[in-house]
Amino acid sequence: MKSSDQPDAADALRRSYGLKRLINAAGSFTPAGVSRSSPAVRDAVSAALSDFYIIEELQQRAGAAVAEWAGAEAAAVTHCAAAGITLAIAAAIAGADPRRVAALPDTVGLPVRVVLPAGHAVNYGHPVTQDIRLAGGIPALAGTEEACPPDQLAKELNRPGTACLLLVSSRLAKGPPVDLGRAVALAHEAGMPAIIDGAAQDMRLPELLATDADLVLVSAQKYLAAPTAGLVIGKAGWVKAVRAHEAGIGRAMKPSKEALAGVLAAVGERRSLDMNRWKADQAAKASRFVEGAAGLPGIGVRAIPDPAGMPFPRVEVKVDPATAGLDATALAAALKAGDPAIWVMEHQLAEGLLVLELVGVTTQEIAAIVERIAELLPRSR
Ligand SMILES: *Cc1c(COP(=O)(O)O)cnc(C)c1O
Repeated sequence: MKSSDQPDAADALRRSYGLKRLINAAGSFTPAGVSRSSPAVRDAVSAALSDFYIIEELQQRAGAAVAEWAGAEAAAVTHCAAAGITLAIAAAIAGADPRRVAALPDTVGLPVRVVLPAGHAVNYGHPVTQDIRLAGGIPALAGTEEACPPDQLAKELNRPGTACLLLVSSRLAKGPPVDLGRAVALAHEAGMPAIIDGAAQDMRLPELLATDADLVLVSAQKYLAAPTAGLVIGKAGWVKAVRAHEAGIGRAMKPSKEALAGVLAAVGERRSLDMNRWKADQAAKASRFVEGAAGLPGIGVRAIPDPAGMPFPRVEVKVDPATAGLDATALAAALKAGDPAIWVMEHQLAEGLLVLELVGVTTQEIAAIVERIAELLPRSR
């Protein structure tokens, strides 16, 4: 992942439309453009855009490639992971019956309750419960944000009118982790499918599929660095039911030809990626940042493991306002206001912490971030 493999084209685009340069240390963050695609992915997208293709063929090839890579029975591509969640819920509620597919989100006579642990009702830019409602489902929260014990989950799953279980595997989930495998087993005991939203966790797919979930949903544009697309991965019957909704509410959630071509290229690259080397590169970037920022006044910096179990570290920058001359919130705001703008994770600013994810950041950009922080600290001038 170079800073841009087409620096001239990227600069020209920025100049033409007056766009700011952005260094994204905030992770696979949608408002920041999520990820940087490789030249091979870019070329596949460009080839797709300039000609006609039989979309069903592209969808079949992409589904087969994703399923083989993931080690799952089947897969399909949707517009994005949020679309995948809505369509998976639609499949659980209405199956693949064409009349029911055409009627959604009207659900008269169908099971509509979608159970999810209360701590999994995340907001990733909008509430995940809205993905349920878009398919005509009604969210039914089990337990509390502090705890969702198996008996609470079982109780909710066994209420009449329940369609499925939805679980969210994400750093955004609240409370003590729910045992996903156990929860899936409870859904199966209650006679219904289990769906896992693992949008930003493609690198943990084997673990998510090992829970025996019927469908796992992933964003192709996050760590896989494809164009925006949702991967629906799992059991063949359920993937087929999801695809049936392409003739229903899925019309507004379809993958584009360029996304399908980009997914094919990105999956091909991931399959030939030397994962150990990639992990070592990510660790080296974190070390480089830590070493670079170590001597700055009022700044404590360390690498920490990814809290959601992804195979790369993050960097935590602890700001001591008394010594640094400004607090974490002011530092993050100043980084954002500069040119290039620098975005970091802001969820722990109140604790005096800037958190940086460096997967989408080049070594040059790491140097630029450290330099900017140094400039912004009144005491280091
Ligand atoms: C990003 C994300 C989504 C949405 O993915 P899109 O592909 O942007 O629709 C859903 N759930 C979680 C947990 C996410 O992180």
